[in-house]
Amino acid sequence: MDLGIKGRSGIVTAASKGLGRGCAEALAEAGVALTLNARGAEALEATAAEIRERYGVTVTTVAGDITTEAVRAEVMAACPAPDILVTNAGGPPPGMWSDWSRDDFIKAIDSNMLTPIALMQAALPGMMERGWGRVVNITSQSVKSPIAALGLSNSARAGLTGFVAGTSRQVAPSGVVINNLLPGIHDTDRAASLDAGVMKAEGISREEARDRRAAAIPARRYGTPAEFGAACAFLCSQYAGFIIGQNLLLDGGALNSTL
Ligand code: NAP
Repeated sequence: MDLGIKGRSGIVTAASKGLGRGCAEALAEAGVALTLNARGAEALEATAAEIRERYGVTVTTVAGDITTEAVRAEVMAACPAPDILVTNAGGPPPGMWSDWSRDDFIKAIDSNMLTPIALMQAALPGMMERGWGRVVNITSQSVKSPIAALGLSNSARAGLTGFVAGTSRQVAPSGVVINNLLPGIHDTDRAASLDAGVMKAEGISREEARDRRAAAIPARRYGTPAEFGAACAFLCSQYAGFIIGQNLLLDGGALNSTL
């Protein structure tokens, strides 16, 4: 399917691996020129090189921590007029509700709420002026159904979801579309580290931990970054213009609900 975005420019943050990379690849396949970010320069350059080679699009890289104002400014300088923005950052660590300090909350809110908001504040005015834009924020299934050990994520991402609910409707009249993608368990380094947490807590092997987590998903497997990226590319496509402020859950049916 031609997504109608060939030649557009897009930013994907936290994109050297996992879900961010899945989104970058799907956008590149659709012909989008990319600006990619991640902290580790080596993995970022390797990803950029593979994407250039495979899809023949321009890929610019900005290595650095996207939760800092300086790196966000660098990303915007590298792509001052993005048509597409996919926001992503690492998720907060698991833990216990009674243990988190104010600093732990501030760090999580900075990473998973205020960073995507700052990126949107930087990109939206230009998109509105040009009359076209697409924003996808990678959040989590925890927005719809809390994950006990991930209270920091549950909290910070709920804040971002509230911001998007209001803002998406304010920018829609200018042809700018903002939606959130909510990953359930996907096969990435992050999933492997959460498997390791279950392994440790339950005293079982890594394989048992993974099997146990997969068994709780009706699709009986983890999602893939490529599937996730394809959904992202569709929400960034020419055909997504009437999908405003939605929260699309990609979880293999894990959330048991009618609506
Ligand atoms: P991942 O495989 O660990 O990949 C994370 C990517 O983000 C890497 O490229 C990493 O590169 C980059 N990154 C992390 N922190 C960054 C920062 N501060 N600044 C710039 N780049 C950063 O993670 P993932 O599984 O794709 O998860 C992506 C997001 O989805 C996370 O917020 C995660 O909590 C959420 N999520 C994932 C799942 C899942 O099952 N995978 C489920 C629900 C929610 P560097 O380390 O080099 O920076």
